[in-house]
Amino acid sequence: MSEETQHGGLRTPIVAVLGHVDHGKTSLLDKIRGSTVIEGEAGAITQHIGATAVPLDVVGEVAGSLVDPSEFDLPGLLFIDTPGHHSFTTLRSRGGALADIAILVVDVNDGFQPQTEEAIKILADSQTPFVVAANKVDTIPGWQVHEDTPIQQTLDAQSDRVEQQFNEKLYEIIGELSDAGFTSDFYWRVQDFRSNVGVVPVSAMTGEGVPDLLAVLMGLAQRYMKEDMAIDVQGPGAGTVLEVKEERGFGTTLDVILYDGTVRADDTIVVGGVNGPIVTDVRALLKPRPLAEIRTESRFEKVDEIAAAAGVKIAAPDLDDAIAGAPVRAVRGRDLDDVIADVQEELAEVAVDTGEEG
Ligand code: GDP
Repeated sequence: MSEETQHGGLRTPIVAVLGHVDHGKTSLLDKIRGSTVIEGEAGAITQHIGATAVPLDVVGEVAGSLVDPSEFDLPGLLFIDTPGHHSFTTLRSRGGALADIAILVVDVNDGFQPQTEEAIKILADSQTPFVVAANKVDTIPGWQVHEDTPIQQTLDAQSDRVEQQFNEKLYEIIGELSDAGFTSDFYWRVQDFRSNVGVVPVSAMTGEGVPDLLAVLMGLAQRYMKEDMAIDVQGPGAGTVLEVKEERGFGTTLDVILYDGTVRADDTIVVGGVNGPIVTDVRALLKPRPLAEIRTESRFEKVDEIAAAAGVKIAAPDLDDAIAGAPVRAVRGRDLDDVIADVQEELAEVAVDTGEEG
């Protein structure tokens, strides 16, 4: 909390999960979400609107010896809950991808499939750094499960035959990445993650390799994205609309992923709409209420302000025409016309993209 009240600060990198259907995107997100202490406890994973925050100390707990939290100053990782490249292409920030890093999930048995190819193309076009999660390693015949352990540990305990098959499957994926124009290697051999894609063997089912995956993402972000993560935390918030939703008691609301600054409950905001920018006043900022507190109360809890990176629900009048993927800006202290012009400009890009995708 104290960090959030300072001006300059480092925000949490935003992580998206992509990959072919059934390769394990949802399972992987579920595993990451379920891998630690109960929500509401100090230093635990927190549920945002449309996203899950995994704080640095939780990354440290899960990753064990693979991560020393004292070597990091980024606050953790924010995973967008909706996997798949449709949401990835919809979610943009100032012309780029909203996600700072992506996980491309590839089933070790299936290898590259049409949606894997599509995802790779999207990642390349948007220049989003990514790691490959080579998933379902537990399905290799004869595999002995060691739940939630780092990959090297479980690999050391496998038979030579299993290890050989493991290597074959992984090299196939490395070959397919090469065909797609990316040099890659087992992540532990990668020196420079900007020129080489790290391949992380995992099982979303058993949690094997998940410590490695979190460690690699955290390391990548810390090493190469620190400057991009430096924001004026108290500045006027900027975000992207994830969804436009009718919510009982609140009317039409926006689920927003905030990637810069702060949104306050008394802010005027500008949002991209079907007929151009909408100017409106925030009525309420909402975040999910911890499960333990939900009885007859609302699923949501009102907050006075929320700082990037975060997922938040914004209730305000006149949101019916707002569109998913559109920019949201808090005006705060700036010239309203400038902010409208900004939103207008970004909106043009969103509209073009939607057209391209059909
Ligand atoms: P998505 O379509 O990419 O989100 O894939 P899902 O997460 O829904 O997974 C598709 C199927 O694969 C489900 O039946 C999962 O239980 C299964 N699955 C996912 N990850 C693993 C894994 O690591 N090991 C095994 N054995 N099954 C997995």
